[in-house]
Amino acid sequence: MDTHPLVILGSGPAGCTAALYAARAGLAPLVLEGPLPGGQLTQTSDVENFPGFPRAVGGYDLVVAMREQAERFGARFEADAVTACDLSGETKTLTTLTGETLRCRALIVATGASARWLGVPGEEALRGRGVSACATCDGAFFRGRHVAVVGGGDVACEDALTLSKLCAKVTLIHRRDSLRASKVLADRVLAAPNVEPLWDTVVEAVRDPAQGRVTALALRGVKTGAAAELPVDGLFVAIGHAPNTDFLRGALPLDPAGYVLGEDVRTAVPGVFAAGDVMDPRYKQAVVAASAGARAALEAERFLR
Ligand SMILES: Cc1cc2nc3c(=O)[nH]c(=O)nc-3n(C[C@H](O)[C@H](O)[C@H](O)COP(=O)(O)OP(=O)(O)OC[C@H]3O[C@@H](n4cnc5c(N)ncnc54)[C@H](O)[C@@H]3O)c2cc1C
Repeated sequence: MDTHPLVILGSGPAGCTAALYAARAGLAPLVLEGPLPGGQLTQTSDVENFPGFPRAVGGYDLVVAMREQAERFGARFEADAVTACDLSGETKTLTTLTGETLRCRALIVATGASARWLGVPGEEALRGRGVSACATCDGAFFRGRHVAVVGGGDVACEDALTLSKLCAKVTLIHRRDSLRASKVLADRVLAAPNVEPLWDTVVEAVRDPAQGRVTALALRGVKTGAAAELPVDGLFVAIGHAPNTDFLRGALPLDPAGYVLGEDVRTAVPGVFAAGDVMDPRYKQAVVAASAGARAALEAERFLR
């Protein structure tokens, strides 16, 4: 069985940028694309905050271009995903979904994180059409409009504050009667003049898929059981992300939420690096993930040489 110098897990901005740098360094990296080839950006239409595109770029087009750029220098992409791994020896062993066993000397984990969704009717159909899990990414599309944020933690409060600076009104919907965010954030959000909390309330449906845009939310009072309808132009779901690290449990140190722990892109295991949303619970932005991918490839190159 061949031993690859470098395998990269994931084909989002972090994986593709790592592949570009590693390929240009002559490492002929093998990239396993995973269950979502191109990563999260393929789920959005316009990306307005990736440098170099003054008139925005389609999320899908951006990652296709990243992949082509890496392939031009010899990176190889394969449609497969890792299901288990042994990182204990000098040679790392990966088991894949198609039943292959791969061996490599260095590994870059760039498997990203998946937003948690509400799972209510209308939500999936309207993703990218008014339903979002990223206020930093999509807030600017709702300038001067009325949006709702669902959640009660730090991220929900940060999203509500970000949106309050852009939108006419933000309704913060939480299923409990107080926020579980840090006090300073909670105080700030509750003091914002255009943020209105809606306590003890859950979203039951997003309207209206037939119109292809968000027009309203169907709500229910947790304590009263009463149904209500809230007209809004957008819905931001801020109930957390799940890093794609199940296959790493026991092989790499992870934080309690499952994010890879490390010092910048270096993990606790020599030769194993991580980049992008899989180790970044804070920024979750394509340019940040791409930058980490570059750093991971440079570290892998240094390790291999
Ligand atoms: C709807 C939406 C809109 C967004 N808009 C913007 C925006 O406008 N601007 C911006 O900067 N950011 C935006 N983001 C955030 C941005 O997409 C992410 O920060 C970025 O994609 C993270 O890159 P990544 O490479 O770390 O991970 P991801 O893009 O999540 O890619 C992870 C990759 O890992 C692969 N993978 C998963 N499990 C395995 C496995 N077991 N084996 C092998 N591979 C695996 C997946 O298939 C995928 O290819 C948006 C996100 C969403 C969801």
